[in-house]
Amino acid sequence: MNINENYTKLEESYLFSTVAKKVSEFAEKNPDKKIIKLGIGDVTLPLCSVVVDALHKAVDEMGVQATFRGYGPEQGYDFLREAVKNYYKTHNVELDMDEIFISDGAKSDLGNILDLFAGDNTVLVPDPVYPVYVDTNVMAGRKVIFANANQDNEFLPLPDESQKADIIYICSPNNPTGAVYNKEQLKKWVDYAKSMNAIILFDAAYECFISDDSLPKSIFEIEGAKDCAIEFCSLSKTAGFTGTRCGYTVVPKALGKLNKFWLRRQTTKFNGVPYIVQRGAAAVFSEEGQKEIKENINYYKENARVISDTLTKCGIWHVGGKHSPYIWLKCPNNMTSWDFFDYLLENIQVVGTPGAGFGKNGEGYFRLTSFGSKENTQEAMQRFEMLFGTK
Ligand code: PLP
Repeated sequence: MNINENYTKLEESYLFSTVAKKVSEFAEKNPDKKIIKLGIGDVTLPLCSVVVDALHKAVDEMGVQATFRGYGPEQGYDFLREAVKNYYKTHNVELDMDEIFISDGAKSDLGNILDLFAGDNTVLVPDPVYPVYVDTNVMAGRKVIFANANQDNEFLPLPDESQKADIIYICSPNNPTGAVYNKEQLKKWVDYAKSMNAIILFDAAYECFISDDSLPKSIFEIEGAKDCAIEFCSLSKTAGFTGTRCGYTVVPKALGKLNKFWLRRQTTKFNGVPYIVQRGAAAVFSEEGQKEIKENINYYKENARVISDTLTKCGIWHVGGKHSPYIWLKCPNNMTSWDFFDYLLENIQVVGTPGAGFGKNGEGYFRLTSFGSKENTQEAMQRFEMLFGTK
C-alpha cells in the first residue's frame, strides 16, 4: 500500500485557527471589551419562510407511503433542474436540462470535477485565492501556477499569453477580494482558454450579489464560453444554505465527453442531494422565494455599503463591497496583514481576516465581510472612523 504523499505537500492553514486563538486570548484578558467580528465567511440570517415551508412539506411527504422517496436521480430531481434552467433564462442563458447537475454545494463539486482531468495538467489560479482551488490540485499532484491579482489590476488579473495552462479557475464576484469581472474582461479569459484548449472552472458562488445587469452573473453570458467552461454555483450565500447544503454545476454539452463523463462520475460516486433539501432549494427559485432571498441579500449589501463608504471616508484603498459581501482593503501605513489584525483588535476590537492567509499577493491587505448584523457593522465602522479619522 502506498499513501498519496501529495497530501504532505499541502500547506497547513493556520489562518482561521490563529484568528480564533488571538481573539479568545484578547477576550480573556479584556472581558469588558465588546469584540465585533467582521471576518465571518458564513451567512447569519436564517432561511426564508417559503424555504422553511417547503422543507416541512417535504418532510411530511417522506412520512407517508404514497409520497415517500428513496434514492433519487443522482443529477437532481427535474423540478429543481427546471427551476435552475429558468433562473438562467433570467440572465439570457439557455441551458438544456441535462447540462444541469444538482450538488450538495459548490465546494464538493469544485473538488470532484478534477476526477475528469488528467494529473499532468497545469492549473492556473488567481493569487489571492479561495484555498480549495489550490489544495484540491495539490492533493492530485498537479502543477499550480498563479495569475497575479494586485492593486494595479484592481485584483482582476487578465490572461498572460506567456503562461500556459490547461485548467483555469475564475471566481467572480471573488472571494476573498470582492472584485467582479465585466463582460469584456471575461471574454478575454474565454478567448485565452480557447486558444490554449484549456477549461475554465468558473465559480459563481456569489453571483446573487451582482445587482448591475451589465455585469455577468454567469460565464455563459459570454460568447463562446459553453465551448470552454464549467460553472459552479451554490445556494449557500444566495439563500442561507451553508448548513442545508445545495448547489448546482453546469457542464455544457458543447464540451463533448466532459458532460457525459461528469454524469458517469456522479452516478458512480454520488447518490444525490436529499429530496427534502431539493424541495427547499426549489422554493428559493419561486417568485416569493426570490423576493425573500433578495431582502436578505440586500441586508448584507447594505452592510457592505456602510463598510465601503467608511473606508472611502477614511481614505483607505479597497475593492469589492458593491456586488459582493467581501471588502478587500489595503492595510494603512503599509502594515502587514497580521500587524493590522493585531492593531484593530487592540485598538477598536474589530476582527477581520488577514489577506496573507489567501496567498502571497494578499500580504498587506485585509478582508472584511458584510455577513454580520447591521448594528455591529455600523458600530465597527464608527470605531474605524475614530481610529483612522476622515480625510
Ligand atoms: N466558492 C467560494 C468562492 C466560496 O467562498 C465558498 C464558500 O465560502 C464556496 C465556493 C463553497 O460553497 P458551498 O457552501 O456551496 O460549498
